[in-house]
Amino acid sequence: MILPKSSQLNSVQLAEVNAIVTEFGCSIQPIVGAVRTIYAIVGDERDELMINRLEGLSYIDRIDRIQSPFKLMDKRSDLATHRITVGDVTLGEQLFVIAGACTIDPKNPNYFYETAAAVKEAGANALRGGVWKPRTNPYTFQGDVKSLDILMEASRRTGLHVDTEVMEEAHIKLALDAGVTSLQVGARNALNYSLLRAIGRAIGQRPEVVVLLKRSIHMGPLNEFISAAEYIAAFGNPNVILCPRGTTPTLDGYRNHPDESITPLLKEKTWAPVVVDPSHSVGKATYVPAAALAAVAYGADGLCIEAHVEPSKGIGDDPKQALTPDVLAKTIRQARELWKLTRA
Ligand code: PEP
Ligand code: MN
Repeated sequence: MILPKSSQLNSVQLAEVNAIVTEFGCSIQPIVGAVRTIYAIVGDERDELMINRLEGLSYIDRIDRIQSPFKLMDKRSDLATHRITVGDVTLGEQLFVIAGACTIDPKNPNYFYETAAAVKEAGANALRGGVWKPRTNPYTFQGDVKSLDILMEASRRTGLHVDTEVMEEAHIKLALDAGVTSLQVGARNALNYSLLRAIGRAIGQRPEVVVLLKRSIHMGPLNEFISAAEYIAAFGNPNVILCPRGTTPTLDGYRNHPDESITPLLKEKTWAPVVVDPSHSVGKATYVPAAALAAVAYGADGLCIEAHVEPSKGIGDDPKQALTPDVLAKTIRQARELWKLTRA
């Protein structure tokens, strides 16, 4: 990681730096921060001669070498002071809540519009709604691109930023062009490195876009989760939010094995904010409020909760795990109280 003395390198300096690292088989990836731009050395940065030559340049402050598989997302990285903002919330400064339907029903858009209004009323900061859906059963509803218009209309009506899952490369452009500012990587794709790279490339120069990266059902070591975030950040936009959402094998009775308790462990390793999804973790509406509060107690920066004005009329996961607006409002209220108590 190259730290310049000024807020960024000029084009002549960048060309000189590029020429040096290229000689050693590396390349440079600028990462634009709020205060200054830092430059990641992509490739094997252990060559002493390369480091010495870079350190010898008059306009370089220092070279940080972090021996970590996730040198940008690592807590020791110079990005550790980077803050991610969605709408008017800077994560870490107040509890951030994304809420909304699992799956937008394109045949009944009013349910989503009403849910969006209710979610806003309940105090959520951003709206979620599934357009494309990863479904275990290939014969069930797989989502519909028409729902993208419904999602954006709900965003216009409420003024909320929207989050939706992208499952393949083509979805990324469709979502970004429509105005989606939070791309969700689902649990099934958290280990899909070509999709992670495609997202990284698409948003590398789009600092207003964030990624909600779910933890894979099959992820074990925490390094695997943080490294998946690094795949995205490596293209220049480090706005990656980590989202534990339960893993397998399941805890008998729950949909998955709740994993909000990994939050403090993640926070020891990475500066990335943690937004826990209690809905997919426990998988049943009656268990969600307690799981949400547990996540806050464990130090989560936010929550991603499925909600619906009339869960029984919803599709996808909504009939079983969506909260009604009143329960959502109460959960958010209690979660914010707890956030204040535990951050005091
Ligand atoms: C979802 O958010 O509706 C979803 C499918 O999530 P996950 O990828 O965590 O299963
Ligand atoms: Mn869902």
